[in-house]
Amino acid sequence: MKMSKNATLKPLVWSDWRSQLQHRITTVEQLREWINVTEREEKAIKACTDKYRWSITPYYASLMDEHDETCPIRQQAVPSLLELEHSPGTSVDPVGDRAYRQTNRVVHKYPDRVLLLVTHLCATYCRFCTRKYHTMDLDGTYFERDEATSWEEDYDYIASHPAIRDVLLSGGDPLIYSDSKLDQIISRLRQIPHVEIIRLGSRFPVVLPQRITPELCTMLEQYHPLWFNTHFNHPKEITPEAAQACDRLLRHGIVVQNQTVLLKGINDDLPTMRELLTGLLRIRVRPYYLYHCDNAVGVSHFATSLEKGREIMKGLLGYTTGFAVPQYVLTTPLGKIPLWEENIHRNDEGYWVENYKGETMNVDTLLI
Ligand SMILES: *Cc1c(COP(=O)(O)O)cnc(C)c1O
Ligand code: SF4
Repeated sequence: MKMSKNATLKPLVWSDWRSQLQHRITTVEQLREWINVTEREEKAIKACTDKYRWSITPYYASLMDEHDETCPIRQQAVPSLLELEHSPGTSVDPVGDRAYRQTNRVVHKYPDRVLLLVTHLCATYCRFCTRKYHTMDLDGTYFERDEATSWEEDYDYIASHPAIRDVLLSGGDPLIYSDSKLDQIISRLRQIPHVEIIRLGSRFPVVLPQRITPELCTMLEQYHPLWFNTHFNHPKEITPEAAQACDRLLRHGIVVQNQTVLLKGINDDLPTMRELLTGLLRIRVRPYYLYHCDNAVGVSHFATSLEKGREIMKGLLGYTTGFAVPQYVLTTPLGKIPLWEENIHRNDEGYWVENYKGETMNVDTLLI
């Protein structure tokens, strides 16, 4: 079936993001065109097939080391058997977003800003995705109803809550949509007077930078102030194409910031993290958050210890440019907690955090 589908496909045009999406890798055979797939990887792909979504853009696959299974790009995108193991305390939604979901697409967790989860689709499915059950798990999703349900209740919710001054388009990856669909969403939000800023959360600059076209940027710049949060995890991802995508956004006045997830065996050592963060400054992207990896189902094998994260932070602060250093945070049902000693306490009952409102909770199940 895949064969006949491919037979009707036009040849891959490297610079064309739609062509890249059409040519996404979704089978072991296609992956073999890029890397020497190991037996273990092949087993994992088969085992994950009816459980998790899997696809890789040809561009992102081209960054992979052909012979090294531990390549940081490979580990982020090729399924692993560890995804099927359950760690203690793991849950599908450890950060509690579902409890804050107000409409089909709106997650309202903080007083003045909301997430608008516009899709569950992505260009490349990151194996460590914190919303794995939403983006990848074929059984579970936030969108229990069809993804195509009317957006009116979502816009109405935002319009009827004047405290919301910051709307963050997330998902999934919003840039999976066409320019005209995005234009429609953003222009609707712009009609709401109390929405001051709009943010786009997207990994396209990393996994398919060709998506950041002049046409997209020209459309977006009509809607300033716009902010863009992207997601580089490893210095190998800072390619000339990725740099050009970020440069293009910046030249259209869109501030680009980065959120990294601390991932075991990928970026959990000081030299790699330092190279990533200073590399981001060279492409004028500002490091924003370093997320402690969530203990989500199918993701826990990427988690590092809290001590590891702190050790990296201590090796950065003072040693390098102040604004190269992101905030190291743990996402909890009470919000993001900066992981400095003063915010997280250990007593006989385990680890406790206190959020910005002074609310406290035990976070043992969130830390591996
Ligand atoms: C992270 C997050 C935000 C945005 O938080 P900032 O700290 O302002 O970047 C908003 N809503 C949810 C549910 C979040 O997890
Ligand atoms: S692009 Fe973002 S939402 Fe999509 S799989 Fe990767 S981390 Fe998850």
